[in-house]
Amino acid sequence: MRMAGRHFLQIPGPSTVPERIMRAIDMPVIDHRGPDFAAVGLKALEGMRSIFRTTGRVVIYPSSGTGAWEAALVNTLSPGDRVLMYETGHFASLWCKLAGRLGLRPELIPGDWRGGADPDRIETRLRQDRGHEIKAVCVVHNETSTGSVTPVPEIRKAIDAVGHPALLMVDTISGLASIDYRHDEWGVDVSISGSQKGLMLPPGLSFNAISEKALEAARTAALPRSYWDWAAMKEPNEKGYFPYTPATNMLFGLNVAIDMLHEEGLENVFARHARHGAATRAAVRAWGLEVLCRQQGQESGVLTAVLMPEGVSADAFRATTLRHYNLSLGNGLSKVADRVFRIGHLGDFNDLTLMATLSGVEMGLAKSGVPFTPGGVEAAMRYLMDNEPAASVVAR
Ligand SMILES: *Cc1c(COP(=O)(O)O)cnc(C)c1O
Repeated sequence: MRMAGRHFLQIPGPSTVPERIMRAIDMPVIDHRGPDFAAVGLKALEGMRSIFRTTGRVVIYPSSGTGAWEAALVNTLSPGDRVLMYETGHFASLWCKLAGRLGLRPELIPGDWRGGADPDRIETRLRQDRGHEIKAVCVVHNETSTGSVTPVPEIRKAIDAVGHPALLMVDTISGLASIDYRHDEWGVDVSISGSQKGLMLPPGLSFNAISEKALEAARTAALPRSYWDWAAMKEPNEKGYFPYTPATNMLFGLNVAIDMLHEEGLENVFARHARHGAATRAAVRAWGLEVLCRQQGQESGVLTAVLMPEGVSADAFRATTLRHYNLSLGNGLSKVADRVFRIGHLGDFNDLTLMATLSGVEMGLAKSGVPFTPGGVEAAMRYLMDNEPAASVVAR
């Protein structure tokens, strides 16, 4: 049966696509080798440099984020290479499995899924690796399964403190364009992202931002690669073209998404996400529930994962919010399946979207008989009113 009003897609990606981007995508397909396409390709490649904050190379794939994970590894590494990863949550574990299937030897530092990657533990492991067998350190910037952020500059510092030559690879699939990210300044070798989270697009595009050091590693890397090969992208990309058919209409949308991010200002975008994260946590605390991330200062502005009381099904609760309020919340993944639900507060999102979302959560908690204290919506509203965005944002 039709439900009136819009569907609240408050999972932490795919995020809601704003109308301006949908209109940009809803255009006739053009010849991707014709003269009109070059400007589209060049604008997208240049624009993504500004989002990654890099002056180096960016590669765009017509794939989901998983493809860009694989691309980062196959372009830089050789069979049997050791890679050091950190179990921040489900996505870090998936990336590790992918590395193993490619014929690498991944090593996953175990984590409790309640914070970002710990730079000290990475430093300790690298210090033991006197023979420099570890060729890459891979971390997830915003762990979407838990709502925890890894302090990437500190991971860089840990690698440098040991003087270890490993490449630093960062999955910022759900962090980019929502949380501060600086590919060049932070000394990241390969950054990985996707279209359907902070970039406000449908799923279907993925990205690598690549350092000089990673390009150098690609010259001798021996893992087989064809579709993902950075080298094949180089020449056509210089003129705005691609070696195979790009996702033409997604690139139309991407160019508008990049414009929208710069019109708002990246700093304002980051502040907005941080503020909505804080307001959401105020609501969760008022409900008497627990935020999964317990590392102070590492809580995500993209999503909040909420632990259900022992014995209460998070999935049954999510089914209730969907059925009664047309609100999709994120599920708990693998280790925390049915134990947590995730509130996405990313992308094209404002104070009233947050208030509506939290109202749906609070009504859903009541309706599904979860033991909780009412008043989370009130607490979030108070937080928003007490913490107005910077004057530069509201002055317009
Ligand atoms: C969404 C996501 C992925 C997977 O991306 P797909 O587009 O589903 O392939 C990987 N890592 C993180 C952190 C993500 O949020």
